[in-house]
Amino acid sequence: MLNLLDYSYNEIEKIIAEMGEKFFRAKQLYSALQNYKKADEISNLSKSFLSELSKTYTFCPLQIFKKFVGKDGTVKYLYKLDDGNLIEGVLMSYKYGNTICVSTQVGCRMGCKFCASTLNGLVRNLTAGEILAQVLCVNKDLGGTYENRKITNIVLMGSGEPLDNYDNVVKFIRLVSSEKGINISQRNISLSTCGLVDKINKLADENLQITLTISLHAPNDDIRKQTMPIANKYGIKEVINATKNYFNKTKRRIVFEYALISGVNDSFECAEQLAYLVKGMSCHINLIPLNEVKERGLVGTTRKKAYAFMNKLAQLNVSATVRRTMGEDIEGACGQLRAKVLNNKI
Ligand code: SAH
Repeated sequence: MLNLLDYSYNEIEKIIAEMGEKFFRAKQLYSALQNYKKADEISNLSKSFLSELSKTYTFCPLQIFKKFVGKDGTVKYLYKLDDGNLIEGVLMSYKYGNTICVSTQVGCRMGCKFCASTLNGLVRNLTAGEILAQVLCVNKDLGGTYENRKITNIVLMGSGEPLDNYDNVVKFIRLVSSEKGINISQRNISLSTCGLVDKINKLADENLQITLTISLHAPNDDIRKQTMPIANKYGIKEVINATKNYFNKTKRRIVFEYALISGVNDSFECAEQLAYLVKGMSCHINLIPLNEVKERGLVGTTRKKAYAFMNKLAQLNVSATVRRTMGEDIEGACGQLRAKVLNNKI
């Protein structure tokens, strides 16, 4: 079956035309889809038309399977896809709006040692419509519509490596930022990657305004290779050069994620090397004490030490902040919730 959310407005117009339906039906159908309505919830289209559509297409490709609300208000969603696979997402509320963290793959094949998403490898890529569905479904859950949206920001930081599912992810970004749809500004979308250099360079030429976030997690190749297998394919200098290219083409400030792991990458010497690596760049470093993943045996740096690391970077004129950890009580880190469910712990 094909899913209607995989199509742009223009493509929906074509589908409608091919079915011999009136032109304005396209707008009615597209609005209903953007409000995440199932066929039986759509009242302004005829039953016969909807049942004809349903022969070829599905409407809502995922459902909320479980929902956990943390003490700090962070909500963790577990969704079930049509094929039974589970993916997860997190909703974080800030003063300026609501940010949703979306998954791009079921599982992941990158193998980062600290990350729960990759524990069972890659199951499959998500389609553009399945990524979009996470945004539309939670927007609806918050009482929003596509015209009066409750979701204001998106981070592609859930399970999966977005650039390992390149075409679907780029299509998703265009769909979610389309004026005909929920129309979330590309400037409010961050894509996080472990550093697939060839794809970063390709992304730089897509003419998008999204923020590129790099999961750096080390100041040199030796340390990076200890936790991130991708470092064996692309050296840290290549990654930095690709981000410089992205900045030159898009003028968007680069963000580096740096998870502080006790005794691995949190020394002052590491801070100095890191400062040297990004010297002169328009960038910001997000420090986050590692969210411990028991299966991996790696421990987060204390918050006190994280602030000392930040201050060292500040002395060296590098912009950095220690990120609030959100949703720790509800397995907020990437892939942790799905891992628990797969292990029958919930
Ligand atoms: N694959 C992409 C996006 C998904 S992960 C990437 O690598 O960027 C989103 C972020 O969470 C990444 O920076 C990732 O390295 C980080 N992360 C994963 N597990 C973590 C953990 N246990 N503690 C802190 N950050 C973690």
